[in-house]
Amino acid sequence: MNKTLLPGATIGIIGGGQLGQMMSFSAKEMGYKVIILDPTENCPAAQVSDGQIVAEYDDLDKLIELAKACDVLTYEFENVDAKTINEVKKYTQVPQGTKALSVTQNRILEKDFIEESGFKVVPHVVIENIFEYHRAVEKLGAPVIVKTIRGGYDGKGQILINDPEKACFADIEKLLVQGTCIVEKKIDLKKEVSVVVAANSDGETSIFPVIENVHRHNILHLSTCPAVISQNSEKHIYEVGEKLAKNLELVGTMCIEFFISTDDQVYVNEIAPRPHNSGHLTIEACNISQFDAHIRGVCNLQMPKIELLKPAAMINLLGQHLDNAKKDLVNHPEWHFHDYGKDEIKQNRKMGHITILSDDLEKTKQAIENNSIWDV
Ligand code: ADP
Ligand code: MG
Repeated sequence: MNKTLLPGATIGIIGGGQLGQMMSFSAKEMGYKVIILDPTENCPAAQVSDGQIVAEYDDLDKLIELAKACDVLTYEFENVDAKTINEVKKYTQVPQGTKALSVTQNRILEKDFIEESGFKVVPHVVIENIFEYHRAVEKLGAPVIVKTIRGGYDGKGQILINDPEKACFADIEKLLVQGTCIVEKKIDLKKEVSVVVAANSDGETSIFPVIENVHRHNILHLSTCPAVISQNSEKHIYEVGEKLAKNLELVGTMCIEFFISTDDQVYVNEIAPRPHNSGHLTIEACNISQFDAHIRGVCNLQMPKIELLKPAAMINLLGQHLDNAKKDLVNHPEWHFHDYGKDEIKQNRKMGHITILSDDLEKTKQAIENNSIWDV
């Protein structure tokens, strides 16, 4: 049984990137104390928290030290080992448990789970070697995408095969060396959307309005809310959100990514058992943010009904955008500017984001489109 934790209690977060930082902002605002475990000293989350344990994510002694110092433990990413969680559970509450982690860490388990819950995933075939790859391509028909089953993010560990005749087998072999892969049919996308759901240990949920997402080079570029989709799709997406939350025994925040095809089929793409980049606009646009909801969930407070206070657009600032965006900030009083405070600026690394509240999202999108910051 998970206790309700009131402000003054200490929350431990494994992982100190931007998601940990925004969780910490929410927690601190409410009066909780926060300790971060992350290998990078003064990482984004540690900059806004009460303390940091500098350690690798799999350093069990240090994780136990964190657990002992906290009233509740949470994490900002899905690649925390379930065994580790079971070990630290001896010392503190870990209300999120391990089910959502273990299901979402493996694309095959994740897809099976989604299908068993009654929802559609993209046609795919599991492959162990290059012969099975050939058979999969024959079965599915090109174009296809080969994906590693573990550890992928921002399109890493994926190869798009438009023309199987011209495919580079050495690249596919490189993915297979890492372990089992899947070959997935490439969908003709009309839209990509996501839904954020949060829950507490009593099974109460908060579900956020559907968000529409545009990716560039497989990295999220722009999110807008509300999503412009049919009522049927919206209803279906909420059903998926509620049911997957229940079946995963969700506590805290998760996000489900969807593909809507040109023939209006809704496919569940993947599940992140944590706050999600596409949900950042909830900070300014909703009555509570996905991070507030996460903290409420893991501390077992009641979950509120979510309201969209104003339509919003969120645009990511990658390494190549940050400096120019900072310079341009003076000209944009409408920008809610977020710089995560990462030390090292790298091409395609998520460094920050901007949210714009707007009653005319088309105009806002056009203004973003016309700004040369995001041309690179
Ligand atoms: P990641 O873990 O890197 O987010 P995803 O499976 O979500 O992996 O893929 C990243 C992006 O690549 C998606 O958001 C989408 O734009 C594109 N993509 C991935 N799989 C497909 C597919 N089967 N059909 C069409 N586009 C895809
Ligand atoms: Mg994704």
